[in-house]
Amino acid sequence: MSTPTSSSTSSSSGTEQRAARAAALDAADPLARYVGAFVPSADVVAYLDGNSLGRPTRASAERLARFATEQWGARLIRGWDEEWYDLPLTLGDRIGAAALGAGPGQAFVADSTTVILYKLVRAALGAPSVAGRDEVVLDSGNFPTDRYVLEGVAREHGVTLRWVAPAHDGGVTPEQVAEVLTDRTALVVLSHVAYRSGYLSDAAGITRLAHDAGALVLWDLCHSAGAVPVELDAWGVDLAVGCTYKYLNGGPGAPAFGYVRADLQDALTQPIQGWMGSAAPFEMGPGYAPHPGARGFLSGTPAIVGMLAMQDMVDLVAEAGMGAIRAKSVALTELALELVDDLLVPLGARVASPRDTGLRGSHVTVDHEAFEATLPLLWARGVIPDFRRPDGLRLGLSPLSTSFDEVRVGVEAVRDALAEVTAARAR
Ligand SMILES: *Cc1c(COP(=O)(O)O)cnc(C)c1O
Repeated sequence: MSTPTSSSTSSSSGTEQRAARAAALDAADPLARYVGAFVPSADVVAYLDGNSLGRPTRASAERLARFATEQWGARLIRGWDEEWYDLPLTLGDRIGAAALGAGPGQAFVADSTTVILYKLVRAALGAPSVAGRDEVVLDSGNFPTDRYVLEGVAREHGVTLRWVAPAHDGGVTPEQVAEVLTDRTALVVLSHVAYRSGYLSDAAGITRLAHDAGALVLWDLCHSAGAVPVELDAWGVDLAVGCTYKYLNGGPGAPAFGYVRADLQDALTQPIQGWMGSAAPFEMGPGYAPHPGARGFLSGTPAIVGMLAMQDMVDLVAEAGMGAIRAKSVALTELALELVDDLLVPLGARVASPRDTGLRGSHVTVDHEAFEATLPLLWARGVIPDFRRPDGLRLGLSPLSTSFDEVRVGVEAVRDALAEVTAARAR
């Protein structure tokens, strides 16, 4: 397609201009002080993968160290009575208030996104309001685990999957959902922000459409929570699930959150009937009865150690506010797109994310068949983007931990590595 040119973008004055522009954006950033709240990595100059694994906060590093001695070590089994037994629900409430637009008593922390998704899908299919309905709407662009879970439930439960096919650089639109909704639709399962393109779906509009058709909705918020505003209560959402190790910085394998709308909780039965979600866990009774409320969606012993780090990030999100976080996220992705247009598109890269700000989450994806070959070079130089096969480079911009200059340094490094790889191939 296009060939590399020796335009001003690769000259030192271009670099200086870009550096000055990024520095000005950082100087004017009302959230700039939060960048210093995260543990630095000695060899990393641009971390552009906070949408896959958020960085630890400094507070979390201390909390994790203290936990072993002051909580686990000092309180021992008493910790369960003092704090841990309630933590899945108290932490769910904090996440709900800071990042989900959810009032108390509806969100909980447990399991993984995959497992909560399974539990909530099964619970939804058994809801009295959708009795006799046998179709589930989903999309072919969703994250693999979401598609796999639904394939399994379809086999197990005898429901038919109605697939929507989003555009490569887009996501599921209300029009596409309207086309497949029928009086047989029981449930619509979609991601609010598409994991590959970053497309931001109209969650309120699609929820309304689904409800008008008599169906329930389940939103996957993995790439939304902590990055884009979410208003579960105001949108009338039935069910939601999401990761805490992405923009909520809970650390590798941190448990997920689930949300079940308050007035639906009594009507739903989840399939993994464990003692921690039972009416009286310590009675050790003969048969299972679900605990009323959100606790009934828990199953086994909660992963307390995994719930430590996210608490500090939730505090930061609550303090900064989702409005300010979204404003910075938009500015970061705007800068990334500008740099991609200047530096990568001339080398044959294609933007695979929405250019319309209102339709974009907090990452930008760019396609080029040589990106995979640039990764070892980038990692060796302390530049860490995300890569999705076959050719997508994701620039994940976690608003509180990413500076504008980091975006500049990162995209310039991608340009250099791409130019080197393509030049070596041409020889
Ligand atoms: C990251 C992600 C997941 C991951 O699920 P786990 O159970 O934590 O492995 C699921 N769904 C979406 C949309 C994701 O982006």
